[in-house]
Amino acid sequence: MLTSQEPEHLTLLRDTLRRFIDKEMPRDLVRKWDREDHFPSDVYQGLVDLGLTGLTVAEEYGGSGRDITAMIMTIEELSARSMAVSTGYIQSACYAGLNIADVGSEEQRRTLLPRVATEGLKFSYGFSEPDVGADIASVRSTAVRRDGKIVINGQKRWCSGAKIAQYIYALVRSGPVEDRYNNLSLILVPTDAPGITYQPQATLGLRGDGTYDVSFDQVTVREEDIVGGLDGWNAGWKKLVGPGLNVEKIEVAAMALGISRAAVDDAWTYAQDRKQFGKPIASIQSIRHMLADVKTKWQACHLMTYHAASIVEANQPADVATAMAKLFVCDTARDIVLTCQQIMGAYGYADGFDMERYVRDILVMPILGGSSAIQKNNIANRLGLPR
Ligand SMILES: Cc1cc2nc3c(=O)[nH]c(=O)nc-3n(C[C@H](O)[C@H](O)[C@H](O)COP(=O)(O)OP(=O)(O)OC[C@H]3O[C@@H](n4cnc5c(N)ncnc54)[C@H](O)[C@@H]3O)c2cc1C
Repeated sequence: MLTSQEPEHLTLLRDTLRRFIDKEMPRDLVRKWDREDHFPSDVYQGLVDLGLTGLTVAEEYGGSGRDITAMIMTIEELSARSMAVSTGYIQSACYAGLNIADVGSEEQRRTLLPRVATEGLKFSYGFSEPDVGADIASVRSTAVRRDGKIVINGQKRWCSGAKIAQYIYALVRSGPVEDRYNNLSLILVPTDAPGITYQPQATLGLRGDGTYDVSFDQVTVREEDIVGGLDGWNAGWKKLVGPGLNVEKIEVAAMALGISRAAVDDAWTYAQDRKQFGKPIASIQSIRHMLADVKTKWQACHLMTYHAASIVEANQPADVATAMAKLFVCDTARDIVLTCQQIMGAYGYADGFDMERYVRDILVMPILGGSSAIQKNNIANRLGLPR
């Protein structure tokens, strides 16, 4: 479906991605990765070799220059085929590339960004904890400075991709608990540091990257591993809620956009192939209406996602646009996928068809990266609605 007047470089990128996906990520292989909870590192390396992780890295650090729209398009295309590959890409281009560029120290930019662009260096987010969900400023994991080092203790939950990442981007409490926002720090914890243990968490979808409970027992890192260097000590909250969280919201929207597009395409084809009562089910009016509805809703999701991306790209205030995109796209994409599943009847529920995977993957999108309820709070607050 032609969606807008796309600049030429984006059309070229989309074509390149689709060729790569068709060749390296065929559907049967993607199903196997999902079934076996496997991260295809060779395919991921192919993306790195194409320069795609460098889309968030400035040329002076070895990338191709920051292009948020191209990054969002890459997430959409990959998510339309495989969340295992898509989430690995996000861990590099977004979690590592964008955060270090925006809030890292110059030394971190110099040493880590070239690795994002050329090696696909990955971070895993360590914000959530067993008792910490939406209220991430209440983290209990601690960091103390001792003899020129940082010593970390505590437990993180839902660290997606922790075992394939090189660092956990961990939010920890670095001062007295009373001063809620001014005693948090972000620390880059190498995933192979002594004192870290991993416990896998089984989930319904998003398989391939794996998600883990991560325990820190006297884990010791360098002071240089504080995000932003020594100036970042106790400044973690400001670093977390800046541009990084805005981009995270549209990353999740782009994942939902990709999954729901694949669902619409599959249902559209299936409805023309499947015959009942002597004719394709696509000729039944209620099915036609469902198909028209999902196409229309998807188009709205596409416009909202890329509109929010363009505001981030232009460095304009993007809190509201990104929250609206996250809210609308994730909730709507979930409805789209469930409708597509209904169109496919029993085969939307069967192993061996991709629809059941789309359903499992889409259900988490309104939860991740700030739930839909949290986005509604953000929108009402940012637009100044009195409490
Ligand atoms: C597959 C998967 C992967 C994940 N990956 C990561 C990761 O890599 N790193 C990471 O740090 N975390 C990760 N998470 C955690 C995810 O970010 C959290 O699930 C999310 O922040 C919500 O927290 P919670 O589930 O504990 O819900 P809670 O915060 O306990 O909320 C429960 C319910 O209450 C609602 N609620 C809470 N507070 C409010 C409020 N103030 N106003 C209105 N409603 C509210 C929520 O919307 C939700 O419906 C992952 C989770 C999953 C399932």
